[in-house]
Amino acid sequence: MNDDLQDAGLMVITGGGRGIGAATALLAARAGYDVCLSYRSDEQAAGQVAARIEAVGRRAWTVQADVSNEADITRLFRCVDNTGRRLSVLVNNAGTLETHMPVAEMTAARLQRVFATNITGSFLCAIEAVKRMAISRGGAGGAIVNVSSVASRLGSPNEYVDYAASKGAIDSFTIGLAKEVAMDGIRVNAVRPGVIYTDIHALGGEPDRVDRVAGMVPMGRGGQPQEVAEAIMWLASTQSSYTTGTLLDVSGGR
Ligand code: NAP
Repeated sequence: MNDDLQDAGLMVITGGGRGIGAATALLAARAGYDVCLSYRSDEQAAGQVAARIEAVGRRAWTVQADVSNEADITRLFRCVDNTGRRLSVLVNNAGTLETHMPVAEMTAARLQRVFATNITGSFLCAIEAVKRMAISRGGAGGAIVNVSSVASRLGSPNEYVDYAASKGAIDSFTIGLAKEVAMDGIRVNAVRPGVIYTDIHALGGEPDRVDRVAGMVPMGRGGQPQEVAEAIMWLASTQSSYTTGTLLDVSGGR
């Protein structure tokens, strides 16, 4: 272990194997966190991130857990408890979207899938985190960072209004939970990324979506996962000690 780094406790990152979650995991390790990262199916990617965390002298745990499944979340947090480390940060990053289509063509099954992962999964992970962090429950406080999206205010017409609405729910959840647990030593904030170069756009059927949309971004380009991760790390850290209930756009001005 690198003794030069201060021990920042344990950060749990859902969907930490790829994209924004993976970038956050790597920055977290460099900032002195041990990291427990969950993934849904890409074990290899999660393992590679864990190896890079261990290469900088921090501990890493990978846990297969689908956040749309309550039993998986229970198991994830049992693993968290078994690490013996103090849970100091939860990053609710796991998220999904489905093929571009107008609302009129959506089905109940699709809505349930998107909402279960993006909304219920984030709620259930936060519930587990609050139980462990809240001062009134014997915890030491902590930080929760939700990964929302600028889609919550743009609406994503003809692409995925369901996804945008799920992120709108995350914004409200962030504001409400922040007020509820402020006196328990827990800060709750959200980042709202714009278009970022990750694999998520392939799920919508347009892997190169970032390049198409980049022209609508005032800064004229898509963002990199690390640029979002930097904002997540600030909200997770004590440098943002007086910031809670905030929605931080990381979107190149869009
Ligand atoms: P990504 O590269 O597709 O990575 C998504 C990660 O989430 C993967 O690690 C995946 O696990 C995991 N995941 C997906 N569904 C899951 C589930 N049901 N249970 C557990 N893990 C699950 O996507 P990303 O762009 O980094 O997205 C991360 C977050 O940023 C999401 O909440 C997304 O909505 C948000 N966001 C992204 C953008 C963007 O332009 N990229 C913009 C705004 C907001 P596996 O690796 O096992 O598949």
